[in-house]
Amino acid sequence: MQAPILRVAVPSPLPAALDYLAPPGPLPPLVPGLRVRVPLKNGERIGVLLDTAGASELASTKLKPALAILDDTPLLPAELLALGHWAAGYYHHPPGEVFATLLPAALRDGQPPLRRCEPGFRITEAGRLALQEQATGRSARRRAVLATLSVADGALALSVLRERHALDGALLRTLCERGWVERLDDPQSDAPRPAAAAVTAPALHDGQAAAVAAIDAAAGKYRCLLLDGVTGSGKTEVYLGAIAAVLARGRQALVLVPEIALTPQLVERFRARLSGRIAVLHSGLAGAERLNAWLDARDGRADVVIGTRSAVFAPLARPGLIVVDEEHDASYKQHEGFRYSARDLAVVRAHAAGVPLVLGSATPSLESLANVAAGRYTRLALTHRAAAGAAAPRMELIDVRRAPLDEGLSAPLLARMRAQLDAGAQVLLFLNRRGWAPVLYCCDCGWLAECSRCDARYTVHRATRRLICHHCGTEHRLPARCPKCGGTTLTGLGLGTERIEQALERHFPGTGIARIDRDTTRRKGSLEAQLDAVRSGAARLLIGTQMLAKGHDFPDVGLVGIVDADQGLFGADFRSAERLAQLVVQVAGRAGRAGRPGTVAIQTHHPEHPLFMRLLRGDYAAIAAELLAERRAARLPPFGHQALLRAEATDAEAPAAFLTAVATLAEPLLGDGHVQVHGPVPAPMERRAGRYRAQLLFEAGARAPLHALLDALAPMLGRLPQARLVRWSLDVDPQDLY
Ligand code: ADP
Ligand code: ZN
Ligand code: ZN
Repeated sequence: MQAPILRVAVPSPLPAALDYLAPPGPLPPLVPGLRVRVPLKNGERIGVLLDTAGASELASTKLKPALAILDDTPLLPAELLALGHWAAGYYHHPPGEVFATLLPAALRDGQPPLRRCEPGFRITEAGRLALQEQATGRSARRRAVLATLSVADGALALSVLRERHALDGALLRTLCERGWVERLDDPQSDAPRPAAAAVTAPALHDGQAAAVAAIDAAAGKYRCLLLDGVTGSGKTEVYLGAIAAVLARGRQALVLVPEIALTPQLVERFRARLSGRIAVLHSGLAGAERLNAWLDARDGRADVVIGTRSAVFAPLARPGLIVVDEEHDASYKQHEGFRYSARDLAVVRAHAAGVPLVLGSATPSLESLANVAAGRYTRLALTHRAAAGAAAPRMELIDVRRAPLDEGLSAPLLARMRAQLDAGAQVLLFLNRRGWAPVLYCCDCGWLAECSRCDARYTVHRATRRLICHHCGTEHRLPARCPKCGGTTLTGLGLGTERIEQALERHFPGTGIARIDRDTTRRKGSLEAQLDAVRSGAARLLIGTQMLAKGHDFPDVGLVGIVDADQGLFGADFRSAERLAQLVVQVAGRAGRAGRPGTVAIQTHHPEHPLFMRLLRGDYAAIAAELLAERRAARLPPFGHQALLRAEATDAEAPAAFLTAVATLAEPLLGDGHVQVHGPVPAPMERRAGRYRAQLLFEAGARAPLHALLDALAPMLGRLPQARLVRWSLDVDPQDLY
């Protein structure tokens, strides 16, 4: 019998799987999902076997033999293979890259799919207590290590702790000597299955109970439920209730969260309440940790898998429920390379696996609301805050048109802040811009510091005395003199979080301040330390970017101030109003979560803007309905469907030349005008990181003709002669048109 041809998804930009001859020697049964080592160009790659065939389109003389089959049994379950095929097709992305995304790095590198066993360290009850009571002494590292261990499921390996905390053996020895940490020689066999829940659940309110019952009633079949619950309404309790029921049925739950920073908090809460093993999967994990979590999920040792975007590809032995928390969040969309939407893939996955999916949000995406209106999703509503005494925050606008601002802060806002601090509450200020000031300006000649590689200005970072381009990362020392005229009156225009922090130090001397943005949280453990300071009350003023807006539960925040709400008001993107409304409602949701009544103060130059009028009434549903009506009239998503082809090159003409060629190719494929092509046009920021950028937009009233066009077009793109001069990428269902 003739040896079969192997169809292998090989990591490369090639638009299809590649054919190889079977390697010589004895072979395991050739089933999809095995890893295969293959030659490619002058090197070797590790791909995933998708299929076998009797014949290839390539001449047999051109076929090369694969070098080795790495697995005896498929690494990926059939369900995940199917999801990979679907995603490669839908996003028109090279299958090799898609299937590589499904594997943790260790497996992509060809390592065996075995749990790494090495001595592990586990926090003891005494350690937990010491951490809670802050009796760990003054060593920040000691605290950080204990904090890491306190949210780990069982023990953590030494290598993992090393990678996270740059540890030396002495620190761990000290922790062990004090009885806060214990050493386990084989954590795998030592770790008992966690005992039944330690903390009792609050009695669910009617809305929660109805939601849990509805999710439970959908067990064993696909159903998409939109849990539309105001901030603090107890959505997490609903997830817990639904997951407990899933675990009782012997099934696994997959929970997606938008931000790594939110996982420890959630893991801790889940761990205290669920009697099952929890695996955590996100990009911040060490290699071995990620491999172990992935294998635990796949082999069913983990009962709950919690992770960020890429965890939508977590393999599950016995899927029972998928939850997407904060489903509106833009971070579910991958913004480069394989541009998938984890939220949308969760829907596809739940459908294929025949399990219910819960999409939770206080500010559901217009897409999901439209799906509810169309009858495809079921809406479960939680309309009021759950905790005793917690009420919806009161919103007010501060008109800053004629108010003198002191570093962006108006007198009324400062007065409200002082009153809150005096009353013992915490205050959170939100500004979605890090750094000191977004512009450096010469008062003598009008010079502006502009990035030489982007159509953008440098941001001033005063603490580090740098000018940094936030688009390409280029950095310079902060100049003392204007490079144009030699003048010395250089000023920062505009506001960033760093500048606000300094203003707060001046206005509220002696009050602890936590600034939470990408600059202050870059080092491992620093975000946890800041959040700790907020929770312990050491910090009473919080200033931060959108990192602060998401999901955190800060019970003592009495006032949320939105320093500059106008940023998103007149944005170029048709989604900017939706984004602004979601952001304001989410940030506002950080106020008044426990017994304290919360206030939200929004500084704006446009207090009469209709969006603010509705936000004042706290009426996200009304805003969403209005925006949906506008989208419908303009045939924009979710009532229309888009794909964006981006191209960039160092040559200014090349992107447009490529896209024009694509538009010409597309012309005969447009299907009687069912699909429209717009462009090519320059990208809103035409030059970035030294490259010129342009884009071509495809729009259609229905998905089918759009995807028929893309199916025909995508394989031809790389073969266009103009393609050699550009980098291009296709973005299906783009979330940003830049
Ligand atoms: P969400 O996820 O909707 O923002 P959470 O589940 O975090 O809300 O709940 C907000 C707060 O209300 C938490 O402190 C939680 O402990 C509390 N809470 C939730 N459900 C109840 C309930 N049924 N009774 C009392 N408190 C509750
Ligand atoms: Zn000058
Ligand atoms: Zn730049």
